[in-house]
Amino acid sequence: MSNFEYRVGLGHDTHRLVTGRALIIGGVRIEFDRGLDGHSDADILLHAITDAVLGAAGLGDIGDAFPDTDPANKGLDSAIFLNAALDRVKGLGWCPVNLDCTIFAQRPKLVPYKAAIRGRVAELVGLPFDSVNVKAKTGEKVGPIGREEAMSADAIVLLRRESS
Ligand code: MG
Repeated sequence: MSNFEYRVGLGHDTHRLVTGRALIIGGVRIEFDRGLDGHSDADILLHAITDAVLGAAGLGDIGDAFPDTDPANKGLDSAIFLNAALDRVKGLGWCPVNLDCTIFAQRPKLVPYKAAIRGRVAELVGLPFDSVNVKAKTGEKVGPIGREEAMSADAIVLLRRESS
């Protein structure tokens, strides 16, 4: 009989909304008149998930692994950050068990995109659809989220590995 050890990790990210950028959340292109500003594709959800994965394994954060001062990371698909983080934790024997996340955006309504985001995140993390949950909240029209100045995401990931 196997014994398992478990670790939980938390991630958070915020990016500013600007004109002239595509809006990409959880690897899914969202129709909107603005997008998130950043060095990479500024995918708040994949950045939060990457931090949660790294955090669960005690491996620091996305900024340690992929500095935004590195020209190689400019305009990069954030799935590359997440894949690299997953490779590192898997190299230590860890496997994701489940993932929950919340996206904070005043507009546009994310309801039509939630299933696609959930599916894409499940695919990227290598989990079944029902082991990934995606929630969306507005900013109630107050603060930087509510005034549509920024969007944020929170993520939490559970990792498991066989005890030696
Ligand atoms: Mg970020």
